[in-house]
Amino acid sequence: MPDNKYLKRLFQAYYKENQSVIPILNLFEQREFGFIPWEKQIMNRHIGFTSPINLKKYFINNTPKHAYSSGSLFIRPENQDMQEKGYQGCDLIFDIDVDHFYTPCKEHHDIWYCKECGEKGKGMVKKCPKCGKLKLKKLNWICEDCLNVAKNEIIKLIYNFLIPDFNINIEKMKIAFSGHRGYHLKVEDENIRTLSSDDRREVIDYITGENISFEILGLQEKGGNIFGFSRETIGWPQKIINRIEKLLSKSNLEIETILSDKRKFNLSQSLIENFINFKDNFHKIITNNHNNNWTLVGFSLNAWNKFLKTIIAEIGIEVDVPVSIDIHRLIRYPGSLHGKTGFKVQELYPDDLDDFNPLNETIEKLDPIVFKSEKAVTQKIEIIEPEVPITKIKGKTYGPYTKGEKIEVPHYIAVFLLCKGVAKTI
Ligand SMILES: [Zn+2]
Ligand SMILES: [Zn+2]
Repeated sequence: MPDNKYLKRLFQAYYKENQSVIPILNLFEQREFGFIPWEKQIMNRHIGFTSPINLKKYFINNTPKHAYSSGSLFIRPENQDMQEKGYQGCDLIFDIDVDHFYTPCKEHHDIWYCKECGEKGKGMVKKCPKCGKLKLKKLNWICEDCLNVAKNEIIKLIYNFLIPDFNINIEKMKIAFSGHRGYHLKVEDENIRTLSSDDRREVIDYITGENISFEILGLQEKGGNIFGFSRETIGWPQKIINRIEKLLSKSNLEIETILSDKRKFNLSQSLIENFINFKDNFHKIITNNHNNNWTLVGFSLNAWNKFLKTIIAEIGIEVDVPVSIDIHRLIRYPGSLHGKTGFKVQELYPDDLDDFNPLNETIEKLDPIVFKSEKAVTQKIEIIEPEVPITKIKGKTYGPYTKGEKIEVPHYIAVFLLCKGVAKTI
């Protein structure tokens, strides 16, 4: 790809100009670094830097396509042998990436092609719906909607779990927009660094709501009645009851829409009617801590389990599980550029999150889109993919495009489309 040379030069210019603002991680010298070059898709890892100046020199002299560093701390981060590195502990890392979960906007902007039978379509699929094969070529895109979903997951993670249930100080959380489809959150706390992989799995199980046993929380059948649990029990029971209360406060029509949603509750019409008839009574029951009789016509223990599972899925956080459990993972270095978009990995304070909008950020120092030119320079490129979805950046819409189209777009749009591999310079 001749355009790799061009993009590498642009990235190099960015690193030269921004040396002074690239963040320096805490305990920098103990981190392992990894880089993927433009020339081949292989990560060079087991790299350590004795000083931040050397990292900055690396960015300018080697200019990688992707740059990562470890959550783990090592005495000898440069040692090739994991056993010899001198492991000292690992920050707790959460990765929220819309690649891993469904959002409705994917039906508009994620395209897949089956290499086996030639079928194509839009949305999130794991295998070809026509031939059932897994050999899919995918073109995943981004829009404000899915990036907002990812941002809200981070906000939920902080304020619904990490602070109230784990008592983690917000000052110890380092957040970053990943430069593409999500966000990272790193907890830098001495007490948390000692957690084993098994401990981390337990934390993740709790946060995702995976494997929750409703029986252990108190759901049971006794003498033909079904008893639920109460809000007085902090943690999951309280979260679930609060969520049910929120559902019950909606209009009957809204409740009907939510409960019939095939991707969510998927209840039959008769169960929905029973639930709506029970609504006011149910509200009284869950707000009265001494009555937890949830007996409702048509709702077996099984049906309640299914209902509560859906509630849990809405409360739990969509984290990429292996990233949190594997202490050898590397995550993107803040301030570096993402080679698939040309966007900056943007560090954020928790207070920045509410208003942060990566595709149209108004605060310059938080703006991940770095290749803006003052003179509004445009660039000519040619589309090389059969179909390219709409791209909306800085409030303006570009595309959709089809193969062979020659377009003239602002520099940052050209960089984005080139990095995405859907266009070439002409
Ligand atoms: Zn197929
Ligand atoms: Zn989207």
